[in-house]
Formats: sequence, C-alpha cells, structure tokens
Amino acid sequence: MSGTQAKASPSDIRISNITAAFEQLFPATQMSRANIGKLIGLSRFTTSEVTGEMVDNRILRELGPDNREGRGKRSQVLAIDTDFWRIVSVDLSNPMLVKGALADLSGRIVDRTELPVDHGCSVNDVIDLCRQLISSTPLPTLGIGIAVTGIVEPNGVVRKSVHLGWSELPLKTEVENATGVPVIVGNDTNAALVAERFFGDCSPNSMLISIGRGVGAALCLNDVIIEGSSFTAGEIAHVVVDPNGPICECGKQGCLESFVSGDRLQQRISQDPAARTHILTEAGALLGRVMAIPAGLLDLRDISVYGAPEIVNTQFIDAMENEISRTVTTDYQEAPQIHRCRQGEDLTLRGQATIVIRTLVPTIHERGSLIGEA
Ligand SMILES: [Zn+2]
Repeated sequence: MSGTQAKASPSDIRISNITAAFEQLFPATQMSRANIGKLIGLSRFTTSEVTGEMVDNRILRELGPDNREGRGKRSQVLAIDTDFWRIVSVDLSNPMLVKGALADLSGRIVDRTELPVDHGCSVNDVIDLCRQLISSTPLPTLGIGIAVTGIVEPNGVVRKSVHLGWSELPLKTEVENATGVPVIVGNDTNAALVAERFFGDCSPNSMLISIGRGVGAALCLNDVIIEGSSFTAGEIAHVVVDPNGPICECGKQGCLESFVSGDRLQQRISQDPAARTHILTEAGALLGRVMAIPAGLLDLRDISVYGAPEIVNTQFIDAMENEISRTVTTDYQEAPQIHRCRQGEDLTLRGQATIVIRTLVPTIHERGSLIGEA
C-alpha cells in the first residue's frame, strides 16, 4: 500500500452516499429524508440531492410528508420503490430442476418459474430461463443473479461444480453476452446466508450451515461475506473430524460430511428407524462441537442451519445449541444463538437477488436510458 491515500473522486462519493442511504431503507423501512441524513451524516442539502436522484432513478419513492410536530418544513418520507426495477434470480442448487424468479428492489419474489432438466443443466438452459423471465415483464431488468453449488470466482467463472458437472465455466460472460444484462454469479450457500441476514434470523456476524446432499457453510463477518484466499471459504464437508470415522467417498476417513450430511443421516435412519432421535441428537451435538472453535474464534452471534425439516428438527437444533453453549460460554464470551432456518425454498433465490440489488443499485444512474424508455 502507498503511504498517501488517494482522494475519493466525486463519483466514489456519490456511490458511497447512495449505498449508505439505500442501506437505511433496505429491505422495507420507511424513513424521513431528514432522518436518513442524520443517520448517514450528510447535510440537509446533500441528503436532498442524493435521495432526489434516487427517486428520479426509481430506487426510492416518496410517501408524503412526515407528521412531525413543530416548526420548520416537514420532511418527505421515503421507501424503496418496488414498482419499477426487476431482478432475475436463478437457483442452480438442484441439478435436475432450474428455479428462476423475478424479484423487486426490496428482494421480494414477484414471479417464478421452473425448468426441469432431466439430463443435467446446460448454460443454454440457464440463458433460456433468463430470457423467459426478462420478457415476461415490461419493466426493466436491473441484473441477473445466478446461485451455483460449487466454487465460483469473483469474475463469475464457475471453477468447479461437481453437482452440475461444470468446471472452468465462464458463466457470467456467457449469460451477459446472450442477454445484454449485468450478471452476478455466486455460491448458493452464500446467497442463502444473505437471505437469512436480511429476511431471517442472522446478524452481521453469523454463519449458515446447509445440510443436504452434503454439508456446506457460509460466513458473514461485519456484514461482509467471506470468500477466502481461493474462494472456497465454507467448504467444510471434507474436513476430517474423526480420524477413526468411516471412509468417505473422497478417500479420506471421518470427514464431517460422513457424519452430518442429510443423505447420510436419512440413510442411517432408514436402516434403524427406532434410533431416529438418538441419531439426530448425536449429529446435532457433533456439529455443535465442531463449530465451537470457529464460533469462539470469530465471536459469532448467530448460526442458522438449513435443511430438510425431518433432519434439521428440534432435537437436532437443541443438541447443537446445548453442545455449543456448553463448550463456548465463559464469563466474557457468549455462545452464538442456533436457529433453524425458517425461510422456505425461496431462500437462495431471494439471497442472490439481494446480492444483485446491493451491488448494482449504487450505479443505477449509469443505466439512464432504461429509466427513460420504461
Ligand atoms: Zn470426504
């Protein structure tokens, strides 16, 4: 790093002001212009200029003057404008069924569609679904978000998705070239955590653990999703937790996945239905024990667990919570709260739409022609 700090350009300042104002209102807060200015530390004039531009660009809408008592001009109440921009969100976490949706600027799903892909999902399937959703509305598309199971690089290349049988696939470039719309590709567990953060139980320092065919995690620290040095943060399935455990399909012995994946637990329960409660309690406790070190290390507030309700049930969550509480709590550190993720199947779609919204809203002014056309 250089010793002198580069001066922020007017365009950087504009972007950071828009971002700050948007964060006060996303997803569904109503607030007066005066209060927004106070909270983000801008003068009355600058707040008026920033929010005025956001209203012109259909990011915010005016709800009318506030009913403040006393002297002085009453301040306009603002909220996110959900009647204009649309976001296409695609969930590729099920390799046999591509799910797509249109979301509004508050991250709410307003329309959805599905495409069965019995022979596996191709890039053309994804492009077809995106085109179908874009043409289903007269409103302009802000961007496309695609959530993929696997390792995704920041440039939108899917480095590896065992699930989809893809490697080194430049998904972002291919879908952008075909649709002419900005595309953001990300990991599906990260998208799920973003949804839990904005619409569920997670705070700025939290983790989401997804239990399905395998087991994966996503981590959020101070409201930043952590990708790691090679974009594989959260890939915990094949970390060995018991060197004497069962042989895993990856060749190692005692991987986390061989103890707590949904598939593995379903299989054990079907072999011994009477032991169901015991199996789930044991698995929850193991997960609590394994997560105690990251929870203490990072001072996490919340861990949300997503999975089929017959696996991630009350017994599983209670066992995990008891174990993590017992092992982490001291007189100076609290254990995180463990939540069963209560959001339904839209979790990933809403999360990926939210990532698109938060990334692209600050530069919406560059899309001026779309605002004029609609
Ligand atoms: Zn393994």
